[in-house]
Amino acid sequence: PLDARWAVLWIHEAARVVAENRARLIELDRAIGDADHGENMDRGFSAAVAKLDAGEAPGTPAAVLKQVAMTLMSTVGGAAGPLYGTAFLRAATFLGDAEEIDAAAAAGMIGAARDGIVARGKAESGDKTMVDAWTPATDAAATATQSGANASEVLAAAAAAARDGAVATEPLIARKGRASYLGERSAGHRDPGAESTALILQVAAETAG
Ligand code: ADP
Ligand code: MG
Ligand code: MG
Repeated sequence: PLDARWAVLWIHEAARVVAENRARLIELDRAIGDADHGENMDRGFSAAVAKLDAGEAPGTPAAVLKQVAMTLMSTVGGAAGPLYGTAFLRAATFLGDAEEIDAAAAAGMIGAARDGIVARGKAESGDKTMVDAWTPATDAAATATQSGANASEVLAAAAAAARDGAVATEPLIARKGRASYLGERSAGHRDPGAESTALILQVAAETAG
């Protein structure tokens, strides 16, 4: 079941995968930004795990995600900190006090995360940001839910769409964030935040089973 224990497992695995991809995310950000996205994300998710491991485990998925949101906001910095912080906070608010996440809740929390990122960063689809991974993930999750998929199938559909969305940022010209300073020279490189989104959603799906 997608309960509080699953949420803790998701964040542990996300931290491991972010650490594993630290150098790669730094290289993506070196091409079109300031070469710190891997470092920022690794610092934030390591801190989130340390915080979860230190105290009594929160009792609901939302409580886990809210604690993660607070930790990301206070440790990640840069553009990604407030954006991911808002994403996890909105996902937590969407879930409320539910003990388990069903298919509709899985789709809803991804959509709520996306809406939070858009509210905070004002990026539209095609601006070459993490929104270009979160929006297809949201759409795929909604479609999967409507076709009767279970919660882990919904996460798998979202993860696959986020992966495709991240790859599809490569030819785009950035219109938001640091990469937009490069104008047309931002084309030909994958957006680092879209890539980290794909990794984190992939781990959500894998840990869901
Ligand atoms: P910084 O750019 O401050 O160094 P990071 O390198 O950690 O922060 O994160 C960069 C990522 O943040 C980008 O790859 C992009 O996906 C995302 N991003 C930047 N600005 C926005 C925005 N306005 N809306 C959505 N995502 C954004
Ligand atoms: Mg950066
Ligand atoms: Mg920076």
